[in-house]
Amino acid sequence: MDDAVRLESLTKTYGSGDSVVSALREISLSFPRGSFTAIMGPSGSGKSTLLQCAAGLDRPTSGEVFIDGRSLAGMNETRLTELRRESTGFIFQAFNLLPSLTAEQNVALPMRLSGRKPDRRTVRQALAQVGLENKAGNRPSQLSGGQQQRVAIARALVSRPAVLFADEPTGALDLTTGRELLDTLRGLVGQVTGSEAGQEDRVTTTIVMVTHDPNVAAYADRVLFLADGTLVGEELSPTAEAVAARMTYLAVSQ
Ligand code: ADP
Repeated sequence: MDDAVRLESLTKTYGSGDSVVSALREISLSFPRGSFTAIMGPSGSGKSTLLQCAAGLDRPTSGEVFIDGRSLAGMNETRLTELRRESTGFIFQAFNLLPSLTAEQNVALPMRLSGRKPDRRTVRQALAQVGLENKAGNRPSQLSGGQQQRVAIARALVSRPAVLFADEPTGALDLTTGRELLDTLRGLVGQVTGSEAGQEDRVTTTIVMVTHDPNVAAYADRVLFLADGTLVGEELSPTAEAVAARMTYLAVSQ
């Protein structure tokens, strides 16, 4: 098995009795290492819930999540937090950088928070992965929106996670900057890092991204379509046109 993340019969319900909502219904899925998957679907179809459960930020009602081959099911909160820190990265529409820290210090923050001494070489390498090796000393206010989001990506990559989750990562960026950022994300997939430190240290980035924009989804290798908590389709080597057509179909068939 070489999946960064695997979901088995994932079900999530909210509420109870008459007000029960099924956000996810028995979803089984694999995210192979080195793959770039986009998740699309109408509002309320379960995209955020899927991302939260797959990242170990929320617990499913039933079913199982495996990250890096490890089942999250029996883990207590402490272990789950550790696994999230070691094996997952998250980027959001908002960059969530600390304004008083430099790019380098922002990237080093997850290491500091987990009580480890920031390893300068690893931090510099993460910045280099997103093309910001020359901006290490800049604070967020001295960087463009696209550069700030790159710092957020470098921060997510610093632990060399098995999987990078992205929720509308280009939502706050203009079209051109958004495209550049997606090219960067695309370039990370399949790129092997840490190779100079030896074979055991190698990590291939895997990306799982939620978006509502067909042009953004088209950067992925595969687009998965959700409707009403169920997986209803898949597009491999997607084009923006094919994705937009499926979304239109899903919107009218709701
Ligand atoms: P999407 O991200 O595709 O818009 P969500 O995963 O946010 O969809 O939501 C899926 C369904 O679950 C929706 O019907 C939503 O109203 C419901 N839902 C999400 N979070 C909660 C919650 N905390 N409590 C109750 N219902 C929720």
